[in-house]
Amino acid sequence: ADNLLVVRGLKQYYPVKGGLGKEPSYVKAVDNVDFEVRRGEVFGIVGESGCGKSTLGKSICKLIEPTEGSIVLDGEEISKYTPKQMRPIRKKVQMVFQDPYASLNPRMSVRDIVAEPLIIHGLTKTREETDKKVVELLRRVGLDDYHANRYPHEFSGGQRQRVGIARALAVQPQLIIADEPVSALDVSIQSQVLNLMNQLKRDMNLTYIFVAHDLSVVEHISDRVGVMYLGNFVEEGDKYSLYQNPLHPYTQALLSAVPIPDPKAKKERIILEGNIPSALNPPTGCKFHTRCPKCMERCKTEAPQKYQVGDDHFVYCHLYDTEEAKKNAKAAENA
Ligand code: SF4
Ligand code: MG
Repeated sequence: ADNLLVVRGLKQYYPVKGGLGKEPSYVKAVDNVDFEVRRGEVFGIVGESGCGKSTLGKSICKLIEPTEGSIVLDGEEISKYTPKQMRPIRKKVQMVFQDPYASLNPRMSVRDIVAEPLIIHGLTKTREETDKKVVELLRRVGLDDYHANRYPHEFSGGQRQRVGIARALAVQPQLIIADEPVSALDVSIQSQVLNLMNQLKRDMNLTYIFVAHDLSVVEHISDRVGVMYLGNFVEEGDKYSLYQNPLHPYTQALLSAVPIPDPKAKKERIILEGNIPSALNPPTGCKFHTRCPKCMERCKTEAPQKYQVGDDHFVYCHLYDTEEAKKNAKAAENA
């Protein structure tokens, strides 16, 4: 496969002071994660709040320094890069955030907000060229020239997110990591922004990592989806297999809670006991074992490996521990 991003063994641990014992405690926000993103696809990452999905997004583009692991972007290992070495990489990978209001400087006009990355990266040479480029970017996201002289507070949430997207696009990135980009918007506006993102992806050959807690939103936009629980992926696959045939007990429970349009279609809601445990000293073995309706003895001590259960469908769960699934997963990893 033509991978734009390959992540291996990625960890994002935060030491916690004031622990009782001799051993230091860590919040394991991202705990030994492996995944790939193929060029031109939308890879959706879903999970409840606190599962580590936002942290994962930030550590991939090194807004936070990963504790350990490898991040290969467009063939280049960037995990150990210094901020200076990251500068040219910032042209390849950009982030779009949930709350455009918080991520846009309120004292800057939209023109200056969108122009800033062009100037920082030396992508335009004259004031005229910059202005022209800004207008072009605003039009791309469905805004107009006259919006350029306005300030973020004069915009609706959807318009502000369009500005955030225009700013991200200014450097002509290959990869956009969008962290809950539509979660703060009204449902009607959500689909407009999602459609815009789809359009831009086609027009500009983009690849997205789309992080969200809303399963329907992720299904709508993604080609493949990874489900996270307590700092790990528990299942990943093409969206059709994953949504129609979820195999991990956690994914099954999550999806059973999504309302379906056809009220006659039978679906039994799986209610999980308790809340997602703390990422500080998470459960041993399979981290989901404390809530899993299918928990077996070995789940309490042994972390499940990755099993291949379909053409493009993987699951981390002992229920799928067969020789064949193991072999397939190894082969897929080396492909
Ligand atoms: Fe449940 Fe065990 Fe599978 Fe974990 S490994 S999801 S506890 S059955
Ligand atoms: Mg988040």
